[in-house]
Amino acid sequence: MRLSISAASDTGRVRRNNQDAYGMDDRSGLLLVADGMGGHAAGEVASRIAVEVILKQVSQGLETGKIPAVGEVPLHLSDRGRLLLAAVRIANEMVYRSSLESPDRAGMGTTVVAALVRGGKATVAHVGDSRLYLWRKGKLTQWTQDHSLVAEQVQRGLLTKEDAVTALNQNVLTRALGIGDVVDVEIQEYAVRQGDVFLLCSDGLTRMVTDDEIAGVLRELSHPWQMCHNLVRLALDRGGKDNVTVTVGKIEGPLWWTRIKQFWKRQSARRQP
Ligand code: CA
Repeated sequence: MRLSISAASDTGRVRRNNQDAYGMDDRSGLLLVADGMGGHAAGEVASRIAVEVILKQVSQGLETGKIPAVGEVPLHLSDRGRLLLAAVRIANEMVYRSSLESPDRAGMGTTVVAALVRGGKATVAHVGDSRLYLWRKGKLTQWTQDHSLVAEQVQRGLLTKEDAVTALNQNVLTRALGIGDVVDVEIQEYAVRQGDVFLLCSDGLTRMVTDDEIAGVLRELSHPWQMCHNLVRLALDRGGKDNVTVTVGKIEGPLWWTRIKQFWKRQSARRQP
């Protein structure tokens, strides 16, 4: 299985700076998005620290085979799950420590969603309301549930999905990275298939563009960079009220299969009148 990955990010049409950050690592099979919060550009600092620390910890862990011991680990978790969990927890500590160093950074934090896709499995960690969607066989599924007040009210039946779209306090998160010295990270593992597309995004996409519209873009396009670019463009066309960031990873077939498909595509295009 080959993973092809791409990303796109834009400040949007309203905000003055981009507090989102993203990371990608072909060799590790890691992609992630972080959406920072805090005044005086502290949100940018928080999201950048989170992305850098997670990328570094995961690649180091895969290289050395050593998993840092940081807190308790659920029994069912695989080695790569333990590694990703440790990386996110270390990122939390680093953001939190940095927030204590300067008054400008006090209270800064960030969301994070990370997918480690290797050897037929995807390990997904998230904190906050940045999301991971899976596009499989023409169907879009939201894999992560937002850690936000509104999403949790929907889960408890206190709010309908329709009301949630227009609800006040959309911004209130129930979990974020860097707010305290420990963080509750949600982590899950899935089997992956050829053709799967993983879409990670900040809420600047999902508040501007509906799930049906996202599905429409993924249905039309085959390259991750086209998907990222078109989704960001769509969010801007819809108003771009927030920073918008998208990373996409696609599980491609073997190289020979991809080349045959491209060959037939060219042949059939030539035959078109
Ligand atoms: Ca945001």
